[in-house]
Formats: sequence, C-alpha cells, structure tokens
Amino acid sequence: MLAARPRGTGDILPGEVEKWRRLEDLIRRICREYGYAEIRTPVFEHTELFRRGVGETTDIVEKEMYTFTDRGGRSITLRPEGTAPVVRAYVENGLYNRPQPVKLFYVGPMFRYDRPQAGRFRQFHQFGVEVFGSDAPAIDAEVIAMAVDFCARAGLSDLELHLNSLGCPECRPVLREKLAHFFRRREAELCPDCRERLERNPLRILDCKEERCRNAGKDAPTSLGCLCHKCAGHFQSVKRCLDRLQVSYLENGRLVRGLDYYTGTAFEIMTRDTGAQSSIGGGGRYDGLVEACGGPPTPRIGYAFGLERLILAGEKQGTAVPESSAPPVFIATAGEKAGEAAFELLFKLRRAGLPAGMDYLGRSLKAQMKYAGKAGIRFVLIIGDDELARGLAVVRDMASGGQEEVSLEEVAAYLALCLENIPAGERQRP
Ligand code: AMP
Repeated sequence: MLAARPRGTGDILPGEVEKWRRLEDLIRRICREYGYAEIRTPVFEHTELFRRGVGETTDIVEKEMYTFTDRGGRSITLRPEGTAPVVRAYVENGLYNRPQPVKLFYVGPMFRYDRPQAGRFRQFHQFGVEVFGSDAPAIDAEVIAMAVDFCARAGLSDLELHLNSLGCPECRPVLREKLAHFFRRREAELCPDCRERLERNPLRILDCKEERCRNAGKDAPTSLGCLCHKCAGHFQSVKRCLDRLQVSYLENGRLVRGLDYYTGTAFEIMTRDTGAQSSIGGGGRYDGLVEACGGPPTPRIGYAFGLERLILAGEKQGTAVPESSAPPVFIATAGEKAGEAAFELLFKLRRAGLPAGMDYLGRSLKAQMKYAGKAGIRFVLIIGDDELARGLAVVRDMASGGQEEVSLEEVAAYLALCLENIPAGERQRP
C-alpha cells in the first residue's frame, strides 16, 4: 500500500514530538555539563567501515545492515550504529591533533534490519558519547556515571547497571578458548548462526538473541575469571571510582556487547519497563578501533542509548506528560470586520513573541470556542463587532473560566503577563 510506512519505522507526531524535544534538550544540557561537543556524521558510509569497525561476526554485520550499491558502483550502508562513523571522522579530520581527551556526542537515526517488535525498530535513534585519548579507569567511571545520571534525569528509576571487563588482546584468547571448549559440548543446543560462530568468535554466542543460545550459555565461563593482571587492576580501579561516586552496579562476567572488538570495560543499563527489550543503553572500551581506522593508537570509550526505549520506559514509569502543541492564545471572532482586525492583531501578538492562532475555517463563534476548549488553549481573545467598535477584546482564561475586557492597545502586554504567571507545570510549550 502506497500510504503505509515501511515496517519497523515510525512517525513521530505532534503531541509526541514534544517528548523527543525534551529528551534532546536534556541530552544537550548534560553533554554541556560533562564537556562533550556535538558531532554530526553522514547517515550513510562505505560498507567497509562497518565490516571492519563493528566486526564480521556480529549480528549487525551478518544480518542487519541496510546495504546497497549506489549508482557509482560503491557499496554503501545506512549507519547501523554511531561509533564507527565517529571514529572514522576522528581519524579523517585529524581530531587526534586536538587537546586530549577529545569528548564527542551524537544524536541521530540508525538503521538495522531487525525483527520489529515493541522497542525494536528498523529505523531508531541513538544518543551516544565517545571519549578519545585516555585509558584512565577514572574516565571509564565518569562515562558510566554520566550514563546513569542521564537515566535518572530522564526520570527513569528501577534500572540495573551491569558491569564487566572483556580483557585485552593478551587475556582474550584465554576466554575464547574456554568459551569454545564450553560451547563445543553444547553445540547441538545452539542456533545455526552460533554453531557457525563457535570457532570464529565464541564470545558472540553470549550476545545471541535466541532463547536456546541464552539457555546454553547460562553457566558459561566468565570473562572476569580470565583477566590478566593489568586488566584485573583496571577493572578494580573502575569499580573503586564508581563506589566513590555511589553508583551501584552488578558484576556480570557474561555481558558481551554488540560490537566485536570491545576491550576492557563493558557495561549495559537495563530496565524492566521496555518489555522484552530490557537494554536501554550500553557501551565500553574499544581501544583498537582508531588504529583499525588508520589513526594513531588511541584509547576510546563510549556508550549509546536508544531514544525510543528511553521514551517507552519513561511512559511506562509515568514520567512523560503529553503536552498540547496548540499555541496558548487563540483569537475567536464574530463578524467580518472583527475577523479582519483579528488577523492584524494575530501578527502583532506573534511579533511580540506570543504564540497565537485564529480560526481559518469560517466557524461560528460558538464552534471556535468549542475548538479552543478541545485544543487545550489557555487564553481566548473574543472579538465581535461590538468589542471592535469599543476598541477592546474580551480575554477569557479557559482554565479558570474568568474573563476581562482589555483594550486592543494593551492586550499584548496583558497576555505576556498572564502567560508569565502560569505555573511552570501548567505551561504549554510554544
Ligand atoms: P547497541 O548499539 O546494539 O549496543 O544498542 C545500544 C542501544 O540502542 C540499545 O540499548 C537500545 O536502546 C538501542 N537499540 C539497538 N537496536 C535497536 C533497535 N533495533 N530498535 C530500537 N532501539 C535499538
């Protein structure tokens, strides 16, 4: 059908878009406080970037990318995540020459050919941060604490922070071998994809969405049991910093992130309020990625949150209050002359910074009042030929029902004062 949107996509309608704007405002506020600068990268990239940056054995690369050949014969992919593009931009634009650490954030649409369900879409939006140039445990803790702070200020409670360390290229082979050994004995229980991944990258099995693989991995060896001395020390320091900040966490030695080359710290924030999709965000260290993209060896840590899941969780926890998008002032008129005068007044009000509207459907005064009531308008200016002759308007406060006559000369100043005096909780957004 021509009039239906593609599966897994969504329209954000007036009434909902205000929640998004509020969340985006919060993101920008928090990023300013924590010292992150915004970066915007293209929505599509060369496919090779994700193959190398995300990893060949990941679900994203194996099954979920929107990849096509463009008219110039290049393989192009709609970005499925934000880290690889930001790292590419960091290298390509020589941001490693800037004072370190470089702290960046992004907000934008991502695309994955996922199976759509509640909280899982094919076009969704992520907010993410990336820190380049520091491998200090304190920066891991800062990034994690910021993620937790963000959730709290978005009004979410009932969250769990899962924390793990995936080790470095030195200790990772030990974990790989232990996991391969463990899953070889359970090969028959695994999904076909995981059977195939068993030798190539057994860690991925821990991240499989299939129930049978989750069950098979319940008692798998944990990465925390395989850490080398240096990684174990780093992990201890991260935990100590979090303790100092009073950020509580659950150690989860089987937590694996969706990208292939995570090193060291990995974390995920879970909620019970998005239905089956319990992860609302997560991240970790990925120290080899800048080098893999052709830059100098540079430590990097970051995370990404799904905005749809944050909004969904907020709604379930009753934190998101729907707002009317109608302007708070409406001019209702009766008679042709009053209509013409109102049209001029409308623009006068707007130029004075007052969001206002009027009737463009030729409705009767009674119908206009009914509309104003339904649209949630706060102040209605009523102008009929009689009021016009006397040079005034009747201003009705729709919340209290009270009304007053105000001269047309003074009505803009009068309304500005009224709007200012509405308590913040009752205020509509312009
Ligand atoms: P990931 O990049 O897979 O670690 O995902 C980070 C976050 O993005 C998740 O915790 C979700 O909140 C969100 N996310 C990932 N995939 C989807 C999807 N298909 N639909 C909606 N949100 C998603």
